[in-house]
Amino acid sequence: MAPPSINQVLLVAGTHGNELSGLYLQKLIRDGVYQADRSTFQVKSTVANPLAVKKNTRFVDIDLNRAFSAADLTSDANEKRLAAEFVKQHAGNENQLIIDLHNTTSNMGATLILLSSDPYYTKMGAYIKQRMPEANILFEDRKSWQDQPYLCTTGQHGLMLEVGAQAHGSLKYETLELMKNLLTAVLDYIENTNLNHTVKLSDYEAYGYIEEVMFPLDIDGMRLATVHPTLCGRDFVAVEPGEPILATFLGYDMHWQGEETVYPHFINESAYCQSNIAMAMAEKRIVRVS
Ligand SMILES: [Zn+2]
Repeated sequence: MAPPSINQVLLVAGTHGNELSGLYLQKLIRDGVYQADRSTFQVKSTVANPLAVKKNTRFVDIDLNRAFSAADLTSDANEKRLAAEFVKQHAGNENQLIIDLHNTTSNMGATLILLSSDPYYTKMGAYIKQRMPEANILFEDRKSWQDQPYLCTTGQHGLMLEVGAQAHGSLKYETLELMKNLLTAVLDYIENTNLNHTVKLSDYEAYGYIEEVMFPLDIDGMRLATVHPTLCGRDFVAVEPGEPILATFLGYDMHWQGEETVYPHFINESAYCQSNIAMAMAEKRIVRVS
């Protein structure tokens, strides 16, 4: 199948209102100091959750970036209303690709999150690795496109940029630079593909999301453990079977029980505090494109 020809990129920031890099990247575009448009498409910017941005909070009622499950778009929650409006306004646009800009408090550097392993995206990952070897390519492709709860999957094409570590509500120079560089490479890939410019691509190592690790809780709902100190800040570093991942307050460690090497990410992400997620685990995969 021929790759899609994208004639518009919708650049979304403020899906989480306290993640500032995307909002400032949009400002750089408005101010003319970052060039986003290319010869074959235009980049249109939008802020997904203006009220949350104003309040400098992740969301008002519920997490907007989990509110796009097709089954459940009717509710009074601020974010359900926003999701329904977003779908109405943007989901039907053909040949549009949505880029949703995020920050994480985890040390994930520049991570490209791809929700599909269609060739368009696997080749995109290869191109990004070539341009920006330090970038991480993370596939969250265990659900079908339609079943993903994310804003960026409302239309035909989309992806997320996840950049950190940056405290929510704050802005760091390095993080904004990483987001700029990753976005530039993604936009160049779209342009090259639109123009049928073939670039020699190589197979590459990427990550595939498997599961989340939860904190154990006491009967009051308080945690019985923290992320193991040897893991903090070490997103995408290998954990072997039997290695410690959590440290309990009673002095013993909890170990990775799986049989395969895993790569933790979103380690101690502050936004996952409420749901008591300690980290997500990924497996390494070799993506073949050549
Ligand atoms: Zn986010």
